[in-house]
Amino acid sequence: MSSETEVKMLQKLDELEQRDGKLPGFIQLYRQLLRLQSEVGSQLTTLELNLGEDVVSDRLSQGVPLLSFEDLLLDGAQVQALLQEIIRSVAKDTPDASKEVESLGNILSDKAALEEVVRAWYEGSSLISIATRHSVDGELLSLVVAAVVKPFLSAHSEVLLPKVNQESWRRRYCPICGGRPDFAYLDEERGARWLLCSRCDAEWLFQRLECPCCGCQDQNALAYFTDDEGLYRLYVCAQCKRYLKAIDLRQAKPEVLLPLERLLTFEFDIQAQEEGYRSCAEADIDERKEEGLS
Ligand SMILES: [Zn+2]
Ligand SMILES: [Zn+2]
Repeated sequence: MSSETEVKMLQKLDELEQRDGKLPGFIQLYRQLLRLQSEVGSQLTTLELNLGEDVVSDRLSQGVPLLSFEDLLLDGAQVQALLQEIIRSVAKDTPDASKEVESLGNILSDKAALEEVVRAWYEGSSLISIATRHSVDGELLSLVVAAVVKPFLSAHSEVLLPKVNQESWRRRYCPICGGRPDFAYLDEERGARWLLCSRCDAEWLFQRLECPCCGCQDQNALAYFTDDEGLYRLYVCAQCKRYLKAIDLRQAKPEVLLPLERLLTFEFDIQAQEEGYRSCAEADIDERKEEGLS
């Protein structure tokens, strides 16, 4: 996500607050984290990735995401400073669990502990055993790690995405970081479907007649629902019982901020989850193994 987009997202959230009054708690926390992330993001302008053209083309042709954990450029001091800011924000937002959040901050102030967690999260391993070892909640751990890595990962993604041949990738995971999609859009030109990475915000082209979560192509198992205006879609798959939200840009006003749409459409998440579907972004470890991702 470019810093320009982040500035627009922050403006838009402020406008919404003025229009609707107090924003829901999770959106306020998101805004606070976005402010912190965008400060860091604006400092990451010169990212010199050591990935030669031949490595790039080999990985892409083999279906391997471009960035391995070893390729990630993470400045320890910047990561640690952001982590502690995020811990403060999350602790303030969850007074009931503030002690637990602060203790997580202490645990992760250790360089080796933080690296272990970031690697496991990045490579899609379960964080449960690490969380149990440190006596912290697995979801909390995952939320904090994702928020800390986000601006760094997005900066990498912006540099690398232009190197991806969109027509030939078309896989169910992100060509940059291997993450899963958690939002999609139909483009204005021809209504082609693009997926948005839940981790780095990269966009990639994907076929419309296949489940982006499990690859099912049986049209009897695939369906989507639209809202009254036909602006949003909720794709669901009966085979994997997962869902994916989407916006149809042919129906949308200009200046759609995709990462923000993902957040503002939370009612679709509630609806889908009530119907027994899980988010497409939650891939099982077994599925990642099948695809050779971990
Ligand atoms: Zn990604
Ligand atoms: Zn599916």
